[in-house]
Formats: sequence, structure tokens, C-alpha cells
Amino acid sequence: MEQTNPTTRVVILGSTGSIGQSALSVIEHDGGSRLRAWGLSGHTRWKDLAAQALAHRPRFVAVVERELVPLLTAELKGTGVEVLGGRDGLVRMVQHAETDRVLSAIVGAEGLNGTWAAVEAGKIVALANKETLVVAGPLVMELARARGATILPVDSEHSAIFQALKAGGRSEVRRVVLTSSGGPFRGRTARELARVTPEEALKHPTWQMGPKITIDSATLMNKALEVIEARWLFGLEPEQVEVVIHPESVVHSFVEFVDGSVLAQLSPPDMRLPIQYALTYPDRTDGPSRRVDWANPLALHFEPPDRETFPALDLGFEVMRRGGTAGAALNAANEAAVARFLRGEIGFLDIARACRAALDSHTYDPRPALETLWSVDATARREVERWRP
Ligand code: NDP
Ligand code: MG
Repeated sequence: MEQTNPTTRVVILGSTGSIGQSALSVIEHDGGSRLRAWGLSGHTRWKDLAAQALAHRPRFVAVVERELVPLLTAELKGTGVEVLGGRDGLVRMVQHAETDRVLSAIVGAEGLNGTWAAVEAGKIVALANKETLVVAGPLVMELARARGATILPVDSEHSAIFQALKAGGRSEVRRVVLTSSGGPFRGRTARELARVTPEEALKHPTWQMGPKITIDSATLMNKALEVIEARWLFGLEPEQVEVVIHPESVVHSFVEFVDGSVLAQLSPPDMRLPIQYALTYPDRTDGPSRRVDWANPLALHFEPPDRETFPALDLGFEVMRRGGTAGAALNAANEAAVARFLRGEIGFLDIARACRAALDSHTYDPRPALETLWSVDATARREVERWRP
């Protein structure tokens, strides 16, 4: 990887979201010494986007919906910030010659477009959008190799693994173990889960995140997606990925080496740390993240996941083993099912059921092209929209 510029110009795709806001707080804390917000993007919260642009004075802001361009232009009059519209506007900002790093933090499969553009241009990509690798892991990693792009994980588990992997050579790794808080419903029975409401599912015990990933954390689909993400990101064999429940969310994952040594990365649950590491890598800098307070007792617990009550997890392992179009089908089905659950149309346990159905009925292709993945995505969404419990 190239030596970083004195100031790294960062494009944040999804700056109005949870990850995007945390990234801006990292940049604010840095105070312009090495990080600069160079491009910002939002979707519906355009007023927040305008406020972010007024505070950070990036070179660009971009929105997919072109109707928002005149509104943003009016808000940012006289600031010199250029407003771009449409997917092509987003791509222009990402691929701009002066863009050093791209934080991919749009939610869902939609995030693949911006990630793809960044990888295509050979940029350093800080990847929060795990759906990118769930949908198109092998294609994205292949493109990154061909274009000399670097993909740095932002997902806390993958950042932990990335850090721990530095302790040994690849042939020395036995497996990686991803930790999961277990979500708000850890310890509940399937019977109890049948009745939980979106409000209950949206209350995560340890992390503050956007609504989609919060529901994914309650079903354990988030861990399922992360298992798939880990396989492609680190080039692992399916049997080299494991999951353990760790309710405190302090140990962010483990790497187990062939000699039995297990290395972990610890820090309080605070996304600003893995975001910052991906923005300053290979350097470590002072930052705003919370610290472990060793003056107080700290107990850490680990237990195996309840795979029967949370069947979404095994869908992730199955899809990781199958590869091909399975990831695109599972991801799209899950996005559509989560949206239906949040609208009150289906129950909590129906999310995994609808995903199972979409996965079973999709036309499997072991080596799909990108267009095939988008068509599998569209079909799975339609199917889940029609699915009846
Ligand atoms: P949020 O829902 O908080 O934010 C999503 C962002 O994406 C917003 O900026 C939103 O814009 C934008 N967006 C949504 N839909 C579109 C679209 N169709 N086109 C363009 N932009 C869009 O999500 P999070 O920040 O929680 O998560 C973002 C990604 O990071 C996800 O992939 C998630 O899995 C991953 N991640 C998140 C973690 C977290 O702690 N939050 C941890 C690890 C990974 P607007 O709000 O203006 O509509
Ligand atoms: Mg995670």
C-alpha cells in the first residue's frame, strides 16, 4: 500500500447514517491534522447532509435523487461545495483523482455500486457495507487485485481479525472466531420470539446502529452476513470461520493459530475505533473512542450460539459454503424481509423463514457475472414481497 498523504482526503458514502456520523466525529477530532472530509453523500436526510457540508466544507456532496440537487445547491450557496446528483455523480466523487480513501457506509446492496466504483479506480476502501462482500465477494476481491485497490475492514469483528492476523503468516492461521453480542433476544425461546415487536427488536444492548443492521443483530442475520464477509475478505476456507456469543461486546473477534495461540482485539463497543483505524491505516493515532477502564472489574463471557432459536445464523454458514449467487439471494431476501417486519407485515421469526424460501427457490449459478447477481437480487426481493407466512 502507498504511503498516506499528509492529509488523507476521505469520501464518505452514507455520511448521514450511523457509521457516516461516527466517521465525521473521527475527522472532527483529528482537527485537520491528517484527515479531511473530501466528499459526503446522503439519501433522504438531505438537510443533515447540508449541515454536515456547512460544518466540514468538503469538495463535493452527492445524492442519488437528482431532485435534491437544487435544494442542496441553494443551502450551500457561496460555500464552493460542488453538488452532484445521480449514481454517476456518486461515482465521479468516488473516482476523483484527489480522492484518497472511500468509506463505503451506505446500507444494503445499494452500497455495492459505490464500493465497486472505488475498487475500480484502485482506491483505498474502508468497507463498512458488508453487503458488498455478501453479494459479490469473489468479484469484488478479484477486481481489487486487478486494480491495485486496498480493502480495509470497518466492521468491528473484521477489523479485529485484520489486526490479529498481523501476528502470523497465513499458513499459520487455523481459524477465525467472530464474536456476537447475541442481540437483544439472547436467551429467549422461539415461542417468545414469535411475538416480539419492531420496537423491541430495535433496542440493541451494546451498539447504536442504523435500523436495518439493528434488526439483523436481533435475528443473528448480521453475524450470518459477517461470516460470509470474513470468508471473502480474508480468503478463508469455510471450515475456518466460527462464531461465539460474547454479550459484553469488548472482545471484537479472535484469530486462532495452528499452535493453539488465540489472539484477540479488545476495546469498548465504539465504532469510531475501527472506522479511524481504516482511515489512518497503517498508522495508529489518538482518537475519540472510549477506552477500557482497568480500574473497574471487567468480566467477559463466551458461550456457543443457539442455532435452533436463531436459524438465520446457519443460513449464513450455508451461503458461505455455497458461494455463487447464494449471497445475493440471501442478502436481498433479508433486506426485503426486514423492511416487511418493520412495516408490521410479518413476524420476527418470518424473517429467516422468508430468506430460507427465497434461497431455496432461486436459480443457483456457481460463477455469476455482476449482472446475474443484480437479477438474483431483484427476483429475491420480489419473492419476499409476495411471501406469505
Ligand atoms: P444507517 O441506516 O444509519 O445509514 C445508512 C446510510 O446510507 C445513510 O447515509 C443513508 O442516507 C444512506 N442510504 C440509504 N439508502 C440509500 C440509497 N438507496 N442510496 C444512497 N444512499 C442510501 O446505516 P448504518 O450506518 O448503521 O450502516 C451502514 C453500513 O455499515 C451497513 O452496510 C451496515 O451493515 C454497516 N455497518 C454498520 C455498523 C454500525 O455500527 N452502524 C457496524 C458495522 C457495519 P439517508 O440517511 O440520508 O437516507
Ligand atoms: Mg460487526
